[in-house]
Amino acid sequence: MPGTPMENLIRYCKETGCPFLEQEPLSQHTSFRIGGPAALFLQPTETSCIPGLIEAVRASGFPWTVMGNGSNILARDEGFPGVVIQIGSKFSSIALEGENSVRCQAGASLAALSRFAAEHSLTGLEFACGIPGAVGGAVFMNAGAYGGEISQRLVSVVQTVIPKEGKPFLETVPAQSLEFSYRYSRYQNQNPQSVAVIAETVFCLEKGDREVSLARMEELLKLRREKQPLEFPSAGSAFKRPAGSYASLLIDQCGLKGMRVGDAQISEKHAGFIVNLGNASCGEVLELVSQIQKIVWEKTGFRLEPEFRLLAPAAI
Ligand SMILES: Cc1cc2nc3c(=O)[nH]c(=O)nc-3n(C[C@H](O)[C@H](O)[C@H](O)COP(=O)(O)OP(=O)(O)OC[C@H]3O[C@@H](n4cnc5c(N)ncnc54)[C@H](O)[C@@H]3O)c2cc1C
Repeated sequence: MPGTPMENLIRYCKETGCPFLEQEPLSQHTSFRIGGPAALFLQPTETSCIPGLIEAVRASGFPWTVMGNGSNILARDEGFPGVVIQIGSKFSSIALEGENSVRCQAGASLAALSRFAAEHSLTGLEFACGIPGAVGGAVFMNAGAYGGEISQRLVSVVQTVIPKEGKPFLETVPAQSLEFSYRYSRYQNQNPQSVAVIAETVFCLEKGDREVSLARMEELLKLRREKQPLEFPSAGSAFKRPAGSYASLLIDQCGLKGMRVGDAQISEKHAGFIVNLGNASCGEVLELVSQIQKIVWEKTGFRLEPEFRLLAPAAI
């Protein structure tokens, strides 16, 4: 039965059991609480369904993109004019694999993964317990904190490869092939001939002590509550650490704490955070970022690069 591309895509989702939402406000799915509606918001649940789903999305001709837990994303006020595929809480199973390995779907939260590991007396992921992302987003960003980085324990990734020509397919790649460095993975620099969506991950951990791991996690969560403005929406540290300094230190030294553009503000509590005081728009955040960059460059000679990412269509 022919229909519009959107009707056909919705029919595909219904037939395959993929949960979907129409005209879904992205502000409901980003930690900044900013962003207009996505025309279609898909929340797949099964790894094996992703290649077919992406093929159907591409056949529709709509621009599309992928997000995780939305904790490092700035979405535009006008929304996203196509399909947002969320690899998030509906895609979040975690299981032990052998003695020391954990396999999880990319939508599992880092909080759940680190707790799962600790509960099974496995150590190595305690650092991640307070990072509010999903595992796929964390691999994409090579998220880290308190001396740990997600790449350190990652063994392999099951990804959906989407070639420019031909059908999407699943493949397993070793972590060493992902070119990790500070807040960087190969996923950030996708080849326009082929993009990839992270579907599953395997981590190798060490035998540890459940109580010690849980206590360490509690300590790290307490540190975050003390130092970070968790009472306001944000995307965490707004800027990457520049070589030779710290973004928050530079911003503080320039006297910018508390600076505002509309409802976007440099946190009074932590100069590295841009917070949404209530009704900040995407434009206000971008304007504040650009003013900070200009002032810090002029006063200190450091160039600050945003850590969060503007939600943009995939290259293919
Ligand atoms: C209060 C707060 C504290 C934070 N603290 C830290 C911290 O200590 N350390 C740190 O590193 N970060 C921190 N962050 C930032 C953020 O939580 C991390 O970058 C996190 O890893 C992002 O994961 P996510 O699932 O939310 O990704 P999203 O924000 O949803 O997406 C981030 C990027 O990854 C891509 N992506 C997401 N999932 C996939 C997938 N499955 N396949 C392919 N691409 C994908 C998206 O397209 C996007 O470009 C913090 C954020 C907040 C709000």
